[in-house]
Amino acid sequence: MSELLKGKPVADAIVEALKNDATILESKDIKPCLALIRVGEKLDDTAYERAIIKRCDAVGIVTKKVELPETIAQDDFLAELNEVNENKEVHGILIFRPLPKQLDEKVIETQIAPRKDVDCLHPENTAKLLTGDESGFVPCTPMAVMEIFKHYKIPLEGKNAVVLGRSMVVGKPAALLLLQENATVTVAHSRTQELDKITSAADILVAAIGRSEFVRKDHIKEGAVVADVGINVDQNGNMTGDVHQEEAKSKAGAFTPVPGGVGSVTTAVLAKQVIKACKMQQ
Ligand code: NAP
Repeated sequence: MSELLKGKPVADAIVEALKNDATILESKDIKPCLALIRVGEKLDDTAYERAIIKRCDAVGIVTKKVELPETIAQDDFLAELNEVNENKEVHGILIFRPLPKQLDEKVIETQIAPRKDVDCLHPENTAKLLTGDESGFVPCTPMAVMEIFKHYKIPLEGKNAVVLGRSMVVGKPAALLLLQENATVTVAHSRTQELDKITSAADILVAAIGRSEFVRKDHIKEGAVVADVGINVDQNGNMTGDVHQEEAKSKAGAFTPVPGGVGSVTTAVLAKQVIKACKMQQ
């Protein structure tokens, strides 16, 4: 019988620990604060924003919404970003992406204050992730995967881990984090040949490709641990992951559900990074 690695108990445990931190900070008159920079009104962004605010409220983190028009010019965006960079009451900054085409994300990434960069956009934080320097920030989604592994005591050391996907947001950081835990890591992508042979040798499989139910039983090793990062929504609003749930259930030793898996831990990890940023700025 396959174990279901639900996100809620993981998120709840993170939030409980953070409440304590927030109370200690409050006793010193420090109120952790996250600025949320949103351009336009995309439904994905507003839904994620609501989830973040709810989570931050539960922890005791103040949120500051910075709502900008869809047509905002690059200079005006950078001026807004600079304002939150300089605002001493703001400890963390999250920018909803992707941004509209007129905004150059590559430039924006270099302008966010690294000490407030709680979702790891700035190259300084990317470099820290690469070198294993824990004074930096890690992208929240791959960190959520690692928190799930930690919570459910999934052994990683010496295990054969395959990360499916190589984006800067999920795949690459997930591979680095697994490597830090002494897993032997392979990163697979759209040009990988004989993908099923590679993934079916994995003790740990992280799927982050954005292809609904792409990972079938032939991709999964008997008894493997499978983390499904995918969020795919069809025209009827139904959500699926990158892994076929029923087939994972029949083959994997443990797997994360979608919804209710990795996605539900992401906002708790974000809150954790805001508290970390706040503490580091004192
Ligand atoms: P992305 O930037 O589009 O990257 C997708 C990656 O998957 C690329 O590296 C691509 O390879 C690879 N890929 C695509 N099709 C493939 C195939 N058929 N076989 C093998 N590899 C394939 O996506 P992302 O931002 O990393 O997001 C991945 C998924 O995670 C999406 O479903 C997204 O919605 C979800 N997500 C979830 C959360 C959360 O909180 N749970 C957060 C962020 C993202 P190439 O590099 O060769 O093109």
